[in-house]
Amino acid sequence: MLRYCLKDFDTLSLQQKLFIYCLSQATLWGRDITFDQFGRYNIRIRRLLEAIYYNKTSLSGSSDTEDAALMEYLKRVWFSNGIYHHYSCRKMMPSFSKEYFIRQVKAIPQNQLPLDDEESVDEMLDTLIPVIFDPDVLPQRVNHADGEDLVMSSACNFYEGVTQKEVTTFYEEMNMAYKAANPGSDKDCHPSWGLNTRLVKRNGCLVEDVCCIGGRYSAYIEKIIYWLREANKYAEDEQQRKVIALLIDYYTTGDLSTFDDYSIEWVKQTQPRVDFINGFIEVYGDPMGLKGSWEGIVHYKDLEATHRTEVLSQNAQWFEDNSPVDVRFKKPVVKGVTANVVCAAMLGGDEYPSTAIGINLPNADWIRARHGSKSITISNLTAAYDEAAKGNGFRQEYINDEEVMSLVDKYAHITDDLHTDLHECLGHGSGQLLPGVAADALKSYASTIEEARADLFGLYYIADPQMVALGLLPDTEAWKAQYYTYMLNGLLTQCVRIPLGEDIQEAHMRNRALIANWCREKGGEEVMQLYNEDGKTYLRINNYQRLRELVGMLLAEIQRMKSCGDIDAARDIVERYAVKIDKDLHKEILQRYEHLNIAPYKGFINPVLHLVRDADGTVTDVAVDNTEGYTAQMLRYSRDYSIHNV
Ligand code: ZN
Repeated sequence: MLRYCLKDFDTLSLQQKLFIYCLSQATLWGRDITFDQFGRYNIRIRRLLEAIYYNKTSLSGSSDTEDAALMEYLKRVWFSNGIYHHYSCRKMMPSFSKEYFIRQVKAIPQNQLPLDDEESVDEMLDTLIPVIFDPDVLPQRVNHADGEDLVMSSACNFYEGVTQKEVTTFYEEMNMAYKAANPGSDKDCHPSWGLNTRLVKRNGCLVEDVCCIGGRYSAYIEKIIYWLREANKYAEDEQQRKVIALLIDYYTTGDLSTFDDYSIEWVKQTQPRVDFINGFIEVYGDPMGLKGSWEGIVHYKDLEATHRTEVLSQNAQWFEDNSPVDVRFKKPVVKGVTANVVCAAMLGGDEYPSTAIGINLPNADWIRARHGSKSITISNLTAAYDEAAKGNGFRQEYINDEEVMSLVDKYAHITDDLHTDLHECLGHGSGQLLPGVAADALKSYASTIEEARADLFGLYYIADPQMVALGLLPDTEAWKAQYYTYMLNGLLTQCVRIPLGEDIQEAHMRNRALIANWCREKGGEEVMQLYNEDGKTYLRINNYQRLRELVGMLLAEIQRMKSCGDIDAARDIVERYAVKIDKDLHKEILQRYEHLNIAPYKGFINPVLHLVRDADGTVTDVAVDNTEGYTAQMLRYSRDYSIHNV
């Protein structure tokens, strides 16, 4: 579990802070919705486990192995918003016994148990015990196994008593009815059917239970709306007020075309420093890809980082003109993109505690095509990951040179962010196709070549003295940290994410392997070498300047492949440098990694925001408290942001 720092929060106005405060409340009120969507028994199981926790004063820190196992299970249930692993979606099996569990439950006074109306303790246990302990009962939250009924075999709570076929037919008919009623409309331009509903069978008929006031999760949605209304008093401009009003309208009625209106206005709203996401958004939690899991995040612009991307963007033409690429493949007029770098202030629902570090919305393709989208990268979360990585032993294991280590420790956090900015703001937008070359000419090699192009553009320029001149790097040594970590990753360490014996598949990983392997082969040992010490393989870079020249050469060649649509050359270079991993080396790297025992997943503890009042009770400030522990936070959320018997 990590914490994140609300960087520059003090530079926000009181109005902005209060806006964040109210939006944060709206974010936290959605937690139970996500829990319930991720499994129909999740909230009851959580309440039962928490009741055991409260009833057994010694549970936390107990030396009894079953107590410890129960505590661990409860922490995992909190982490995954339910009993299914947040990433694999498999049911998490407890390591305490059924007998122990029953004993604990029976020791709790009945009025503290999450009993349904007129339900006895034994009846409750009969329902919940198989769900918790039987590996064959509701085993998987989202099932994608080909050939099975994906709706019936998934434990997520978006459907009840319906088959996959019925779901497909239901939404096809809905779409046909919509088209009949709107004959002029574009074929893809329709609301996101089913996004905010639960599809159930009642008296033999399929009915949608809509999430709105008076519908599903009504009591929670009322709280969210209350806090959105409060927030709207502090909105930064007229457009933002309009956006929030539309969101309230959508939550009130559940009308998905209002959600589209909201999304369109939200895309247009770019000025305010504070922005947020609050609603039924991503559809990965539904095997049919229709139902949105509830999520929330509040964030504000990181001005320093946004300044960096603005500088790059303003100088985009200089970078294009001075790149080592053939002049025929350069854009005569190039426009850089300003990336929105933000700081998270509160995470909720499906974004908590495990969260994305980059978000691009809205999801509806037709809105993206017509109105564009907004994307953010969240700098205070990546900074927290970086900080955590320093102490986990990873660098110590794979870097065997004190000089390199101090270089990396000193600069890597700056150069990593800058390389990402160069990649996103300039790399992808640079260059042009020759007339007559199709955009999809490189077929299945296109994405690897494209990522390599953007990465090489970034690597080439991060080593340029212009970076120091523009104030983006502190000195002319810093770039070497990026070259070292990049090559180390491409040649050795990125394969820790691939099972032994498998090839590299993912485009970004292929591109890194391509660049690193190509440079190593072309440059030979005088540029960089892998060497062995005590059975461990390490990287040494002998000539950084020459390595930069190689990067420039490869950038020119990769751009040529793209601009000319030379698929044969693209296939050759990808298959030769980007796909295969040396098996012995892979095995060694994996073994060393296992030894480090690094937690495979990380999540975040939220800050606590307090209103500060003067003697008259007037709010004068919002204070950030980063001292709350994981267990305390989860228990507080269950107490303060939960409504019983809904
Ligand atoms: Zn990219």
